[in-house]
Amino acid sequence: MTDLGETTLEIDLGALAHNYAYLKKRLHKDTLFLAVVKAFAYGSDMVSVATKLQELGVDYFAVAYVKEGVLLRDAGITVPILVLHPQPKNFGELIDRCLEPSVYATRVLDAFIAAATQKKQADYPVHVKFNTGLNRLGFKADAIPGIAEKIRAQKAIKVKSLLSHLAASDDRDQTEFTQGQITKFREIITRMSSALGYLPICHLLNTSGVLHYPEAQFTMVRSGIGLYGFGNDANIDQMLRPVARLSTVISQIHHIAKGESVGYNHGHIAQNPMITATLPIGHADGIGRQYGRGRAAVVINGKQAPIVGNVCMDMIMVDVTHINCEEGDSVVIFGAEQSAEQFAHAADTISYEILTAISQRVSRRIIQ
Ligand SMILES: *Cc1c(COP(=O)(O)O)cnc(C)c1O
Repeated sequence: MTDLGETTLEIDLGALAHNYAYLKKRLHKDTLFLAVVKAFAYGSDMVSVATKLQELGVDYFAVAYVKEGVLLRDAGITVPILVLHPQPKNFGELIDRCLEPSVYATRVLDAFIAAATQKKQADYPVHVKFNTGLNRLGFKADAIPGIAEKIRAQKAIKVKSLLSHLAASDDRDQTEFTQGQITKFREIITRMSSALGYLPICHLLNTSGVLHYPEAQFTMVRSGIGLYGFGNDANIDQMLRPVARLSTVISQIHHIAKGESVGYNHGHIAQNPMITATLPIGHADGIGRQYGRGRAAVVINGKQAPIVGNVCMDMIMVDVTHINCEEGDSVVIFGAEQSAEQFAHAADTISYEILTAISQRVSRRIIQ
């Protein structure tokens, strides 16, 4: 293993290719694949991930905000890019960079028609988002006649796709609710396509949707977390490979006497003599305070070392009393030895949160 010598997030593009192939294999061969690369490709490296997926022939990308799409265009990405959650303020730039908006409210639709008309566009591709139960973004079905009429009455935009988003595709106790969302979406497709006079691309499934509801893949699916190696299901996780591995080194070892405290605000009081290791990673790198005070552990020489006391901005201290280790040894926060899902679980959160939390301060190392 290479000695990385500092806190490093390694990004394995071979693992990404493996996950992409695995997810594609579970779909009909003509189903389009949209790769969700928002939030720096789930905290990894948006440009190298998108470049790799473009090489592999992905059909679409999605980001949350316009500025993320601009970064992709600046890096030479030519595949269509859907912006899931744009604001009217950025529509000029969105059009200039050939990004495609999700329109999710009348305010947004009106503003986008105005912006596209002003920029003398014809048939500019837009994606109409419907709310089928998540109650987060999107039109309700009763808005269909109004939206369709507005779109038919102008020439600047055309509906490229219809989409909705599942609320609990990963929860096997919620299949009835999910089936209800699928049924609603089918009705929306029928009504919208007849009101528009054409059938756009239709997409509903995220990663867990692909895994559990393949019958609802329509013409396209949107996958994020699965590409990065997690399927919200331990059995699926075995079929996938984690793309990101976060490691660091031991900066200093301390021998703590019984009764002494460790860290800010005496976050830990030694009940017995103990040995701690101080690591150069803290909440400014993405390890939030919820991981501290013994909840989560890192892995040193194959053994679990729980975080001691409070997480600091740039450091954590871990308990190495029973681990044979020395200053300069490498430390794994997540990777093959302990998954990001396991690490996150210790602090009652999910892989999505820890992955996207890894801050831009952490060095990235891309493995081709
Ligand atoms: C983030 C996001 C996705 C990706 O979901 P995963 O569970 O990561 O596959 C898909 N669709 C929408 C609307 C999203 O916001």
